[in-house]
Amino acid sequence: MSFTELGLAEPILRALTEEGYENPTPIQARAIPSALLGQDVLGIAQTGTGKTAAFGLPLLHRLHESKTRAPRNGFRALILSPTRELASQIADNLKNYSRHLKMSVGVIVGGVPHGPQRRTLSPGVDILVATPGRLQDHLDAGSATLRGVEILVLDEADQMLDKGFWPAIRRLLPNLPKPRHTMFFSATMPTEVAKLASEILNEPTRIEV
Ligand code: AMP
Repeated sequence: MSFTELGLAEPILRALTEEGYENPTPIQARAIPSALLGQDVLGIAQTGTGKTAAFGLPLLHRLHESKTRAPRNGFRALILSPTRELASQIADNLKNYSRHLKMSVGVIVGGVPHGPQRRTLSPGVDILVATPGRLQDHLDAGSATLRGVEILVLDEADQMLDKGFWPAIRRLLPNLPKPRHTMFFSATMPTEVAKLASEILNEPTRIEV
């Protein structure tokens, strides 16, 4: 199985070749075909399995195909992450994979000033990687809107539960537009995480690696 056979767009394939990626990892081989069709994905996988590209590559492909535009203060894809470090790592990966696409990637995390983040959000971005608490601050202040979201990714959902981000996530869910394409990743599946997954995913492809 190669990335070409998975059906990814040519500019993405070119970036992967430049990154030195030869073949998809098991989670990528199983998640990408479903996600490209717009099916929801439930991935049970640790860091190091290639899960970022498993959701990131189909996300880029679909945004590239859909050609919609983010509204002011909005974003077309939202990736929620438990930590600042993981959020910047995801954003860096996405910037690499999308280097031959016209795609903007923004990062919104806690512990840094709000002003520059407001300026990032203001014109709208294609992809926003955020920690849930700071995103909630911007939503409450009116400097972010969920209006344009087509794709939602929850990464390391079990860590987000441990860090107390559940209420922020639960608050934003009802405000997301429908239909929505959702991908949900967690290293473990305790009851509460499984419950949230079953609430927000629609007949997901379940992948455990
Ligand atoms: P992740 O599990 O997403 O944190 O990825 C772990 C590491 O594997 C990262 O450094 C990626 O750049 C790398 N990686 C992901 N997918 C592939 C692939 N198909 N081939 C080679 N390296 C990869």
